Amino acid sequence: MTLTAPEGSVAPPVAQQPARRPGHGDAFTAHMVATDWTASRGWATPELQPLENLSLHPGTLGLHYAQVVFEGLKAHRRVDGGMSVFRPWDHARRFRRSARRLAMPELPEELFVSSIEQLVSTDEGMLSDDPSHSIYLRPLMFGADANLMLRPSEHYRYLLMAFVAGGFFGQDVETVSVWVSHEHSRAIPGGTGNVKCAGNYAGSFVAQRAAQEAGCQQVVWLDPVERRWVEEMGGMNMFFVRGSGPGAEIVTPQLSGSLLPGVTRDTLLALAERAGYTAREERISLDQWRDECARGVITEVFASGTAAVVTPVGEVRDEGGDWVIGDGRPGPVTLQLRQQLVDLHHGTLADPDGWLHRIS
Ligand SMILES: *Cc1c(COP(=O)(O)O)cnc(C)c1O
Repeated sequence: MTLTAPEGSVAPPVAQQPARRPGHGDAFTAHMVATDWTASRGWATPELQPLENLSLHPGTLGLHYAQVVFEGLKAHRRVDGGMSVFRPWDHARRFRRSARRLAMPELPEELFVSSIEQLVSTDEGMLSDDPSHSIYLRPLMFGADANLMLRPSEHYRYLLMAFVAGGFFGQDVETVSVWVSHEHSRAIPGGTGNVKCAGNYAGSFVAQRAAQEAGCQQVVWLDPVERRWVEEMGGMNMFFVRGSGPGAEIVTPQLSGSLLPGVTRDTLLALAERAGYTAREERISLDQWRDECARGVITEVFASGTAAVVTPVGEVRDEGGDWVIGDGRPGPVTLQLRQQLVDLHHGTLADPDGWLHRIS
């Protein structure tokens, strides 16, 4: 007997034309790339196929024990009309690190990058020429055994899918308000916070919801031990700007083991230095953040990530009192770095490190 899929679980109809209302994570492109791993055979050759529903045994190990890792990276249309993927080799390396942490086989970097080349070259027609749109690529790997023994899977499936993305928080650059979570932790020392595994995000949803109930768009995570040091914002890294003009200093929390080392974070540290600012990794406490804003030392705050690019923070709501950052509007250093990152993506800024991977 064939079971009918319940309402809502069916793949949305595939658009054959450029997506008009992208940015909601559901404007999937028409294809996916899939391959499997077994201990005896290793990785099979990845195959391009139409995006379609999966058929999974209800006892699929990854569904039960969250042996699931993923990545998120983007392809952009350059001003010359060609497509480029941003820093795919760095995402490939992080995907391997995530897999290793969850006792999964590592996907060779060449397979990761070639699957991306295959999907982007096939589906790039679904990206309009609106420069604020991009193709968000989502590599995923999960334990595929139909077996509920509490141990690592012996079969794995790698899937690469994509959707057309607009601006994450809308097209215009607007500040977001943030709420500090004192109750929940995103990650713990020795845990999985420094890799991209699915379970990290399920555990963060209640705090994100609490932030929204407090009238804020995003949650700020503190370190899980002392509950003093600022770590991340939602699924993004954070940056603080001290001072203004050419002498401004750009600070991001140092990698603590429970922070996710963002590719965008790394890119912005380099762009900040190239723009002549001092860029540093340093611990910063919540008290320091509040105090330095009050004294006018911290002038701007923003968050970074592949999805959100650069998102300015305008206001903090906290049980110890609320405060505004600068005048509550996006600051000049934030906007400058954001523009440089966007220009880099579109091939109009020098790329000395070869971060743009051209799709021929
Ligand atoms: C993915 C992610 C980031 C941003 O990483 P990028 O490589 O810049 O996209 C930051 N924090 C968390 C928790 C993440 O999952």
